[in-house]
Amino acid sequence: MRSTARHNRTRSSRDAFVCAGTRYHAPMLSFETCNAARLRRDPNYDGRFFTAVKTTGIYCRPVCPARHPLTRNVTYYPTAAAAEAAGFRPCLRCRPETAPFCPAWNGTRSTVARAVKLINAGALYADSVVTLAARLGISSRHLARLFERHVGATPQQLAKTLRVQRAKRLLDTSDHTMTDIAFESGFGSLRRFNAAFVELYGRSPSRLRAMRRA
Ligand SMILES: [Zn+2]
Repeated sequence: MRSTARHNRTRSSRDAFVCAGTRYHAPMLSFETCNAARLRRDPNYDGRFFTAVKTTGIYCRPVCPARHPLTRNVTYYPTAAAAEAAGFRPCLRCRPETAPFCPAWNGTRSTVARAVKLINAGALYADSVVTLAARLGISSRHLARLFERHVGATPQQLAKTLRVQRAKRLLDTSDHTMTDIAFESGFGSLRRFNAAFVELYGRSPSRLRAMRRA
């Protein structure tokens, strides 16, 4: 399956995201493609991959205005969730939570795209992955495999990333109270909301809000 997708991928940068088949999608752009796009800060690749910097523990969008890290220090991930699952923190400068969500399979009718849509709509807030898989008509093991290949993270990790991203956008762009943001973003409690931010950003949500205009 994977080799079919690779075979059908063309070499031109514009088409690199598109596979000829409708069923299988390229799991990831090549390192060379990502690296070239990062070095020219290409906005066409925004949301299609994320750059993780081993020396800082931070991950960025390809358009990040910060000084370029050395190529030997970077790793590329297909989604923000994958970079976070690997232990990287979102950059406070380019704010990965504001990148468009556009992996190769997004907008397709694939099972992964449907699963992501359901997760984004809150499918894993109360229900389990088993329930989600059943809604998609597949086993949870198959769902896990699809996520590993296309998202680079588990369904739970993606749910967590999307939740924190939603909260972060509200922190930066609204004046809603912390409690309101916690519940609007799908956190069951203010305590969990705070804990998720401290875990990912190493800072509380109120500290991040205080920094937003800095
Ligand atoms: Zn950045």
